[in-house]
Amino acid sequence: MNRDLFFRHVAQTSPYTMALEIDRAEGIYLYGPDGKRWIDFVSGVCVSNVGHNAPEVVAAIQEQAGKYLHTMVYGETVMSPQVQYARRLAEVLGEGLDHVYFGNSGAEANEGALKVAKRFTGRSKLIGFENSYHGSTHGVLSVSGSQKLKPGYGPFLPDTQQLPYNDFEALSAIDTDTAAVIIEAIQGAGGAVVPDPGYLQAVRQRCDEVGALMILDEIQTGFGRTGHLFAHQGLGFQPDMLTLAKALGGGLPLGAFITRGEIMEVIQSNPSLGHINTYGGGPVSCAAGLALLNKILDENLLDQVPAKEAILCHELRHPAIKLVRGKGLMMAVLFEDADTTNRILDTCIQHGLMTIGFINIANGLRVSPPLTITEDELRESCRLFVRCVEEVASGRSS
Ligand code: PLP
Repeated sequence: MNRDLFFRHVAQTSPYTMALEIDRAEGIYLYGPDGKRWIDFVSGVCVSNVGHNAPEVVAAIQEQAGKYLHTMVYGETVMSPQVQYARRLAEVLGEGLDHVYFGNSGAEANEGALKVAKRFTGRSKLIGFENSYHGSTHGVLSVSGSQKLKPGYGPFLPDTQQLPYNDFEALSAIDTDTAAVIIEAIQGAGGAVVPDPGYLQAVRQRCDEVGALMILDEIQTGFGRTGHLFAHQGLGFQPDMLTLAKALGGGLPLGAFITRGEIMEVIQSNPSLGHINTYGGGPVSCAAGLALLNKILDENLLDQVPAKEAILCHELRHPAIKLVRGKGLMMAVLFEDADTTNRILDTCIQHGLMTIGFINIANGLRVSPPLTITEDELRESCRLFVRCVEEVASGRSS
């Protein structure tokens, strides 16, 4: 019944939604109304990093919901969960990333960062990368390299350009007209493409040479996926601006761009209200996000990531698997073609393993389970995945 209503009244974004009805979720599992269970191998695309219904997150939400949900538009009232979360983020991010602007989503975080970069530098050129994804709104789609999403939605922002990813020489296109370069720490929608050693640092250096701002999109990589709280922390540099969303809200809507005071202050004057919104940094979302962050740190979930990555690399082997790439618990499994991939996806769903494909490539499936998955659970999940691959490869699955 709900499924019928879903198709009748909820806007559909593709003809091939999985349309699974979920009744409840706990830990690494999602449950249907009939009790069918799926292992969550995706974390709602890098959102549920501490698993579903984590008691600490639920308690923080309940406590804050009992006090107030919304007081005033962004930036007008002092709300303890928002202030405490901003302070904690500043603490864990370190110098230069200590002013937090809260919005509602990843796209909005990137929109804000691009606007502020234009205003701060007085320049207009914005550079992104081929195969990137930064959100679905007009501005960020203009810089994104998701060519698949663009037909019919132009014209896009002028003065935008995408450089080939991992091409060091192409970075010379970043010049003194460039306001900002926006880049993912690992290309998420592109299929977990990891930058070559030194590449992000080379982007950083080129930005410094020409006075452009480096915006690092850690919307997928953030909150522990790579074994560092944020991927850049393992690479020894700070971006000028960092954008976060997904796990940032602990399962509730929240996005943020974070930078230093000198840059952030441009939105205060000439004109004032340079970037505004209604709900950003909502107190319940901030309370949930802070609880998620604390859980990751308190339970040393980051230290466990390399061993879990090793399990993935060891277990995810089959002649039909062409490549496993990514880092930590943000991986892609690539197959020969889209048809094989879709059949494996359907088989996984049938057998109780929730995965999904990528926006920019048709021959890959996501492997990004909650960081809380135990090593045994991870091994079991991988074996189930490989059994599904085998079922399709051997022709036992239609
Ligand atoms: N940036 C990256 C790297 C993403 O993966 C996404 C979403 O998948 C976004 C930005 C957009 O975030 P949202 O869907 O919250 O607008």
